[in-house]
Amino acid sequence: MPQITINPRRCKHCGICIAFCPKEVFGADYRGAPVVERAEKCTACGLCVMRCPDFALEVGEKGK
Ligand code: SF4
Ligand code: SF4
Repeated sequence: MPQITINPRRCKHCGICIAFCPKEVFGADYRGAPVVERAEKCTACGLCVMRCPDFALEVGEKGK
């Protein structure tokens, strides 16, 4: 399962990663900040990492 890391100091709760993840890996907390809810569905496609405007996300390789 890929390791998904959200840096809370960089994240501004824009919701882009939540909206664009094709596997709906993220939910949102009460502030609209992303929460990893379905990590097992992540394919490590990297879309969330590419689209995050604040470089707050890291996704590791599958199986690592
Ligand atoms: S795209 Fe980046 S800044 Fe926006 S909610 Fe996701 S992690 Fe936070
Ligand atoms: S790497 Fe792809 S599947 Fe995994 S959380 Fe990001 S957008 Fe979703």
